[in-house]
Amino acid sequence: MTKLIPIFADHLSHDLSALQYANKADARILMVEVREEAETVPHHRKKLIFLFSAMRHFAEELREDGWRVDYIALTDPQNTHSFTDEVKRALDRHTISEIFVCQPGNWRVQEVVKSWEEMFDLRVTIVPDDRFICSSDEFEQWAEGRKQLRMEYFYRDMRRKTGLLMVRDKPEGGVWNYDQENRKPPKSGLDYPEAPQFQPDRLTRSVIDMVAAEFPTRFGTIEGFQWGVTRDDALASLQDFVAHRLNGFGHYQDAMVGGEPFLFHSLIGLYLNCGLLRPLEVCETVAQAYADDAAPLNAVEGFVRQIIGWREYVRGIYFLKMPDYKDQNFFGNLRTLPDFYWTGDTDMNCLKQSIDQTIDHAYAHHIQRLMITGNFALLTSIDPVRVHEWYLAVYADAFEWVELPNTLGMSQFGDGGLLGSKPYASSGNYINKMSDYCGDCRYKVKERVGEDACPFNALYWHFMARNEDKLRGNNRLNMVYRNLDNMDGDTRDALMDRAEQVISQLKPSHADDYL
Ligand code: FAD
Ligand code: SF4
Repeated sequence: MTKLIPIFADHLSHDLSALQYANKADARILMVEVREEAETVPHHRKKLIFLFSAMRHFAEELREDGWRVDYIALTDPQNTHSFTDEVKRALDRHTISEIFVCQPGNWRVQEVVKSWEEMFDLRVTIVPDDRFICSSDEFEQWAEGRKQLRMEYFYRDMRRKTGLLMVRDKPEGGVWNYDQENRKPPKSGLDYPEAPQFQPDRLTRSVIDMVAAEFPTRFGTIEGFQWGVTRDDALASLQDFVAHRLNGFGHYQDAMVGGEPFLFHSLIGLYLNCGLLRPLEVCETVAQAYADDAAPLNAVEGFVRQIIGWREYVRGIYFLKMPDYKDQNFFGNLRTLPDFYWTGDTDMNCLKQSIDQTIDHAYAHHIQRLMITGNFALLTSIDPVRVHEWYLAVYADAFEWVELPNTLGMSQFGDGGLLGSKPYASSGNYINKMSDYCGDCRYKVKERVGEDACPFNALYWHFMARNEDKLRGNNRLNMVYRNLDNMDGDTRDALMDRAEQVISQLKPSHADDYL
């Protein structure tokens, strides 16, 4: 009686729940490199290299551990490039009595998996994904009956649940949140530690060649692949963060510096999201650094909050609100993404820096995603679906369950305030405060109108003015609308004209051009 255990690209954990229910002797594992998935959006080539190589290494490790693995490579002539069809082929190849699968992270894939039982007339058991601290059911219970969902309260419950940074029932240090200490602009003279670099081994080099051959025109630089692809690499990356960057993570979490793509960030999101690291082990490692006096509380608390707070929270929202969540468009924005999102060809230095490093590394840190590329898309009325497709394509850590709420909800306010209490919109002033980008920009950040004025300035007021009916009632924007009311008519007209000029000059793109 053989069990078939399909393993997806984000299920690369040796203690995956579906594996815990099977014996090596009576199980057949199925892993597939599916073109259908690789082409839903034009995924960055380094993301494809990372995932295919991590999958191949994981399959090798499973085999060494005694599992029997059917691995269907992208270039296998028999590959149907549909996961469901590959399950069907596996059922034809082997005598399978039932399918055991860990709960997929993607809502659509979950629906597909649910259809297998009827389709194949075979028992299909979907095992909960226990790599998360809060299950979808638990989140639903937490959310039930609450007038307003706020991450901060959820986070406190997760602190209590895990005991992380808790002294009995009180938060370590007496307060839950040290964000006030964590918003420092970058200082000149700061040293930024080198990010870890992993030399591609034989297997990774073969994947690099395959991706180069199969996706010749695809978005993203292929040279200089430096990400780890195994659990050992991921653990080494975590240790490197704790040893060299955790100390600066808190203070400079929101800082942006030209030519420095990584700063003090952990660079572990891609490993967490494909299963090479577990969220709890990561937080325990970081909390231990605090216990050992090797890292300050503001950095450790700030980091733990991102993982047991934000990461778990957005997953909860995703499964609570899908499938309708994807269609939400609070402002009714319909514009196509500007072409420079795919090329980096813009004079706006903040956008150029953020996009160029995305092209090179499939990485940008949170504030670049939120306050540079996200902010510009929001201010220029880009359709949230187009913005979502871009983020899903270009970042190595992007999987829909985490990317969609961050993009559509947090960054584009498409859900009308479910994820954030006000839109993350800003003028050039914020960017100038938190980065050194403006000094090297062709535009002048202090100017609001005219050809040389920073485009963010006029766009910000245009956004507030055109969405007044939807935003004026928001208490957190009272001051903004007071300032808009006090603005003289000529200034307001000049700002609106400048913003419309900027928007009309944007060259639209089509993601399909980059497939
Ligand atoms: P660090 O800055 O070192 O943070 C540590 C970890 O905390 C991250 O690895 C991540 O696991 C977690 N984390 C931090 N912020 C968030 C958040 N808002 N939501 C969920 N987890 C968080 N994160 C993804 O993992 N995948 C995505 O596709 C993704 N898309 C995003 C899109 C937008 C528009 C925005 C604003 C944010 C997005 N994020 C996404 C959140 C965040 O930007 C990345 O997790 C982070 O930049 C990854 O880099 P890092 O590992 O160096 O993280
Ligand atoms: Fe960006 Fe404006 Fe600063 Fe240029 S001046 S880097 S466009 S914020």
